Order: sequence, then C-alpha cells, then structure tokens
Amino acid sequence: MSLINANYLNLPGSYLFSEIARRVREFSAANPERKLIRLGIGDVTSPLPPSVIKALHKAVDEQALNEGFRGYGPEQGYDFLRAAIVRDAYQGLDIEADEVFVSDGAKCDIGNFQELFAGSCKVAITDPVYPVYADSNVMAGRAGPMGDDGRFTGLIYLPCTADNNFVPDLPGERPDMIYLCYPNNPTGSVLNKEQLKRWVDYAGENDSVLFFDAAYESFIAEDGIPRSVYEIDGAKEVAVEFRSYSKSAGFTGLRCGFAVVPKSVRGKAPRKGGGMNAVPLHQLWMRRQTTKYNGCPYIVQRAAEAVHSPEGGAECAATIAGYMRNAGRIRQGFVDLGLTVSGGINAPYVWVRLPEGMDSWGFFDSLLRGAGIVGTPGAGFGPSGEGYFRLTGFGNAADTAEAMERLKTFQM
Ligand SMILES: *Cc1c(COP(=O)(O)O)cnc(C)c1O
Repeated sequence: MSLINANYLNLPGSYLFSEIARRVREFSAANPERKLIRLGIGDVTSPLPPSVIKALHKAVDEQALNEGFRGYGPEQGYDFLRAAIVRDAYQGLDIEADEVFVSDGAKCDIGNFQELFAGSCKVAITDPVYPVYADSNVMAGRAGPMGDDGRFTGLIYLPCTADNNFVPDLPGERPDMIYLCYPNNPTGSVLNKEQLKRWVDYAGENDSVLFFDAAYESFIAEDGIPRSVYEIDGAKEVAVEFRSYSKSAGFTGLRCGFAVVPKSVRGKAPRKGGGMNAVPLHQLWMRRQTTKYNGCPYIVQRAAEAVHSPEGGAECAATIAGYMRNAGRIRQGFVDLGLTVSGGINAPYVWVRLPEGMDSWGFFDSLLRGAGIVGTPGAGFGPSGEGYFRLTGFGNAADTAEAMERLKTFQM
C-alpha cells in the first residue's frame, strides 16, 4: 500500500446533507400523507432560458458538419465568450478578455486556485462559510486538524453573526489568502463599497491575496452594492474573482463559470542569491489550467455567450426575479414570526436567527414536524452558524407560498 495524503483524513464527513436526508426519510416514512416543502435547496429549479436552449441546439448542429466541428478548444475558453464576458460584465472596469479564464464552474476554480500557493500560507475564511474554501485548504494541508471547538486549528476564522451584522471584522492575525463571498451563501448578506474597500485596502497593505466569490452577483437588487470586486480601487492588484452561470442562468447541470485573474495580481518566490521575485498569478493559473484542464465544452460556451445577449439577459433576470419574490416571502414569513432575519434582498438566501437557546438541528426537527418544511441548519456551515437556519428562494412559487401559509400557524 502507498501512503495517502493524510490531510484528507482531517476532513469532516459530509454530514450535513446526508443527515438532513436521513431525518427527512424517517419523517416521511412515519408520516406518508404529509406533503413536504423543501426550502433548503441550494440548486435552481427553473428550466434553462429559451436563448440558451437555442444557442445549445445551434452549437450541437454545427458539430455535425465538417466546417462546424470543434475538437479541443483553448483551455482558457473561446475568445467569443471571453469577449462577451468583458463587454457585458466588466465594462469600464479595465479587465482584459485574456484575464478571463472560462471553466466548468466556480466550485472547481475556487477549489483549485489555492494550489498556486505555498503549503505554509495562512488562510482566512468567514464563519459560517461555503465549505469549499475550507475543505480545499484542508486537503492541501493548510488547515491542520480540527480542534474541539469545531474549528480547524490552522485556519483564521472571521465570525459573521448578527452581532456584526454579518460583516466580518478584519483579522487580528495576518492571512496570506482571504476568501470572501458576497452576496453571501449562506447568510444572504452583502458588503457595500466602503465595507469591501476595507478588505481590498487590507489585502494591499498586508500583501494578502483576496479570493472574491461573486456567484450571486446577479441577485443584487440595491444600489451601492458592488457587483464586482474590481469596482474597488486597488482590487486589480490584490483580487481574483470567481463567477458562475449556475445560479444566475440555471447552469448547475450544464456547467460553466469563470475566474478573472488580472495580470497585476502577484505572489512572490525566493530569488536565487536572496530576496524575492514577484510572480503574476495569471501566468501560474494559465500554466495550471493548460496542464490539468482541457476546457469547457464548445456548446456550453455558446450557451453561456447567449446569457450575455440582451434577450438572454432579460430571460435570466425574469427567473431571478421569481426566486427573489420567493426569498422576499420567506423573509417576511419569518419576520412575522418575530425572528431576526438576514438576506432575501440581494441574495436568494434567507438566514434566520433562532430564539435564544434554540439550536439549529432542534429547529430543523421542529419546522419539519410542525410545518412540513425542510430547511438547512446553520451549524452545518460552521461553528458561528449555530443558532441560525438557512432557507432559499430556489423552490417554486406555489410551494413557497404554501410554506409561508403553514408558517402562520407554526408553533416553535
Ligand atoms: C453555487 C455556488 C457557486 C457556484 O458553483 P458552480 O461550480 O459554478 O456551480 C460558487 N460559490 C458559491 C458560494 C455557491 O453557493
């Protein structure tokens, strides 16, 4: 037998969603007549927009022709899509098409990007958190073992709770790598320009790199909330941005996303004879992707291109508006129960603060039994998620409305 990468043994089991499934199964077996409404899902439910379907069909038909067939494409994505992204999403932000790396989704990019950095780099994550940021660094050996408090001993945690309005405070200890996700999954919170600028400035002053996950950018409804980290002066020197067509255009099954890696973001490496050399991350990510990745399918990139057309954009906006109406209903439903709620305004997630002393699994069971509603216990997203509960607007409108009717007579 060969030695394994023992860092994998530091990973927690994928306890959250399997435990939810187990409890739901048990409840359904005991109450077969009860219709359950699932408001815990982090997946979209609406079909792909018509423009996307049209682009897919057209691209498929091209593949039947000698002159239309495409084999291997550029690993970083076709020029037509990179140009459409820059034109539609980064206008005026001074991002070049060759700084965009198309991929099969943001999860892979976010999980892979950390490998450009030394194993000794210190990592900061928000708490609660999208698990990929933490787990990919656990695998790389940067997180160390988990302590008794449910926190990895080698990570820097940035608690986001009602006490700081879900806006993380700057770390007490300097991280090399900082992960931020705004609009946030799971808390549904956002950063305004000033709040995001503090982080960009901090990264600049401390020589840290900022990983900005903007997967929910298209859900922003309010003015003054940055859609891209590059709206902040100085971000082009310190930040990499990740985006996805998953939630914005229904691509969770189709798979497409991209990373923006400005040529001006650098890391450092020891120079022969002493001192340090600055190394552009762009060069390393290009090398990494061309070595380990062979590109997002042509037909999928044509589908993504359609998202950036006026019709495609309007169709996506209509679907998002539907999800956000659901989220707004959910938000109001829990406010009417007298609870404090975050999110549901610029993000499809509603993050409910439970009454003092109630734990998130206890509330899960109570909501399941009392209202037949399935949500997600906050504790599953990190220690600071205890005492909170996540619901999403990704369900269909009728079911969400029915869930909120049931909530009116729900006794906690
Ligand atoms: C859904 C989601 C993504 C998107 O991942 P894909 O791999 O593109 O589907 C990225 N970040 C967060 C926080 C998400 O919730």
